[in-house]
Amino acid sequence: MREEDMHAGDSSAETIRVLNPATGDLVGEVPAGGTAAVAAAVDAAETALAGWAKRDPRQRGKILGEGARIIRTQTDALAALLTAEQGKPLHEARNEILGCANVLEYYHSVSGSIRGECMPLSSYGLAYVLKEPVGVCGAIIPWNMPVLIFAWKVCPALVAGNSIVVKPASSTPLTTLRIAGMMEAAGLPQGVLQVVAGSGETAGAALAATPSLGHLSFTGDTKTGVAVSRAVGHTGVPVTLELGGSDAMIVCRDADLHAAAAGAVAGRFYNCGQTCTAVKRVIVDASVKEEFTRVLCEKTAGIVVGDGSRKGVGMGPLNNAPARDGICRMTDACLSGSEGTLLCGGGVPDGAHYEKGFFYEPTVVADLPDDSELLNTEVFGPVLPVISADSLDDAIRIANSTRYGLGASVWTRDIKTAMTASSQLDAGVVWVNQHLRLPPDVPFGGMKASGTGRENGSGAFEPYLRSKTVLVKA
Ligand code: NDP
Repeated sequence: MREEDMHAGDSSAETIRVLNPATGDLVGEVPAGGTAAVAAAVDAAETALAGWAKRDPRQRGKILGEGARIIRTQTDALAALLTAEQGKPLHEARNEILGCANVLEYYHSVSGSIRGECMPLSSYGLAYVLKEPVGVCGAIIPWNMPVLIFAWKVCPALVAGNSIVVKPASSTPLTTLRIAGMMEAAGLPQGVLQVVAGSGETAGAALAATPSLGHLSFTGDTKTGVAVSRAVGHTGVPVTLELGGSDAMIVCRDADLHAAAAGAVAGRFYNCGQTCTAVKRVIVDASVKEEFTRVLCEKTAGIVVGDGSRKGVGMGPLNNAPARDGICRMTDACLSGSEGTLLCGGGVPDGAHYEKGFFYEPTVVADLPDDSELLNTEVFGPVLPVISADSLDDAIRIANSTRYGLGASVWTRDIKTAMTASSQLDAGVVWVNQHLRLPPDVPFGGMKASGTGRENGSGAFEPYLRSKTVLVKA
């Protein structure tokens, strides 16, 4: 369902009021879809499926390419809307919009790679394998990178010939709805892409429990992922789960400390710390900890916090009140119990222009005990713990000591150290001398409690295709 259709809906229906997390102002209002809206969207997607599935994958990819072109012409307007509903600074919102266009273009470029196999088998005749779409797919999206994650799920599903029903997060449905409209303007047949805004407990739960889906892809918190996985489990629908992380960044004694400190700042405070693969713990060799921490704190203290639509702002607010309150509670509890040392930040910034938003200072803490909550849960906000390690083995042990296994990075000038750490870290993605960047060309997903399945990369179409083997005797 498109944004315009939703506004045209019954005014007595329940609505989602999208508020600007920096100011509390109303950004937009859309009707809240529930179980009935999800069922209607799945039906409409089913109806649209036959015609779409018959098209050549290259034709389907071409529509995504045209969608990317339209999105690029509207980058500034889309970025402003994304900043208003999500809170991230305008330059980050632009990056995300351009990243979304990039993903559409990537799937256009690889659309020709969807084909079957043919095997002449002397004793059987000719065998071939057809790759068919799996049907109507579902996608449930979080609020932290709403547009990029939408593209990661929707593009491979559509190019593979499926239709898809998307449930965006309640706090960030607006940019997604607008982009879905642009994809329709690019030539996507009506019904093939459905966006149902609604709450997780109603629309999300209804989508997760739909037994006719060919595949469901969920990104969000590990706790929600477990609930979704249970609901899906009863239906037998295959599922991809992209869940939380507690990424470690290991800084070795031979690392370029200035580059590493800059990487930690970008990796932790980008998107106000609300990135699944953010640097959530820095583990630094004890011999260089003092120097590294000094540079890290200098850079952190230089970040300008404010309304993301203002020029010069480096970090916006958290997206919503529970997210900000959770960060306050966790940090206060750790520091008031004299568990650790506060090195910078550590509170809600002072000033009238911060009063209506969900702001929190970029914060660095050290000397936390091993069982600190800040080290053992996913901290989804701008708080960075620094931990010291005696050796590379010790650093890897600490890095692997959480239940998560999403991303990790190692900062060193020595290739052997980089390769040893990469092979020993429990993480779905390991960066060397960088952290965060993820082009659509590479597979992405987590280990352990960070999820199951992969998105993007050469296997991106696999969950969205089923194989049919045909054996022909002449
Ligand atoms: P949530 O798990 O709270 O929500 C994610 C989505 O699930 C939202 O659309 C939400 O709807 C919906 N939802 C909530 N409850 C249910 C339910 N019972 N059944 C079905 N759907 C439901 O995550 P956040 O939005 O808070 O996003 C942050 C989390 O996402 C972090 O843990 C982060 O690490 C993770 N993440 C993981 C990534 C990865 O690729 N591994 C990438 C990005 C984020 P509603 O908004 O209405 O609550």
